[in-house]
Amino acid sequence: MGSAALRTLDRLDLAPRYREADAVRLNHMFRGRDTVEMLTVLLNENMLGDAAIVSSFGAESAALLHLIGSIDPDIAVLFLETGKHFPETLAYRDQLIERIGLTNLRNISPDAGTLAEKDTTGLRWSYDPDGCCEIRKVLPLRAALAPFDAQFTGRKAFQSKTRTALPRFEVEEGRLKVNPLADWDRAAIDAYMTAHDLPVHPLVAQGYLSIGCAPCTSIVKPGEDPRSGRWRGWDKVECGIHTPVDTHGMDDPIF
Ligand code: SF4
Repeated sequence: MGSAALRTLDRLDLAPRYREADAVRLNHMFRGRDTVEMLTVLLNENMLGDAAIVSSFGAESAALLHLIGSIDPDIAVLFLETGKHFPETLAYRDQLIERIGLTNLRNISPDAGTLAEKDTTGLRWSYDPDGCCEIRKVLPLRAALAPFDAQFTGRKAFQSKTRTALPRFEVEEGRLKVNPLADWDRAAIDAYMTAHDLPVHPLVAQGYLSIGCAPCTSIVKPGEDPRSGRWRGWDKVECGIHTPVDTHGMDDPIF
C-alpha cells in the first residue's frame, strides 16, 4: 500500500463500531482499486476489527469465499441454516469449505422455541414469507453478528434493479457492511471461478441463478434479472437481512 493511503488510514480513526462517515471515507479511499488489492489491505492491515463473511453458499458464493479465504482462511463464515435449504446447497457448502480451506464455518440455526411458537407447521413461508425470514434469518443473524464489527456480503449491483446503486461499503446498525463484489458483473465472476477452478452450485445448470431456501426459489427465465426467481409471486425482493441500498458517498457506485 502506498504512503498516501497509509496516511489516509491514520486519519480514519476507525472505532470498533462504525458511522456513516466511515463508509463514505472507505468508498472514496478504495474507489477504482482492484478488489483483491482492497481485500488484502483491509484484512492484512486489520482495518475492519472482527469481521465475518455471511454466505448463502448460493450460485455466486464461491468467488467471494475464495477471494477472502485466500487471504484469511480462518475468518468466520456465517451460514444461515434455515432448515429450508436445498440438499444440494448443504452439500455445496461442505464442498466449498473443504476446497477453499476455510476453517471457521458457523452454521446459524433459528431458535427452536421461536420456531415451535411461530412456525408450528413449518409452512409459514407459504402465507407469511416476511415473518418466516424474520425468525429463520433476520433474528438468528442479528444475534450471530453481535460480536462482529464488520461483515462481508456477496451482493452485486447487477443482481437486480434494487441493487444497482450498491456501494462497496455501507454502515448498518453501527456495523460496517463490505460488498467486495459490488462492481463485478456476471462475466467477471465466471472468469474468476474458471481461473481458480471453483465448483459451480449444482442447481445452476438447471436454471437457478439466485439460490436461497428451496420453497422460495424458482428457475430464472431468459431475460429476467437473476433474483427474479426469489419469492416469485410475492412483493418481496430481500429477505430482511439487507436494507434498501444507499450510495454512501459514491457519485457513481458502479466504479
Ligand atoms: S427464504 Fe422462504 S423459507 Fe427461507 S426463511 Fe425466507 S420465507 Fe422462510
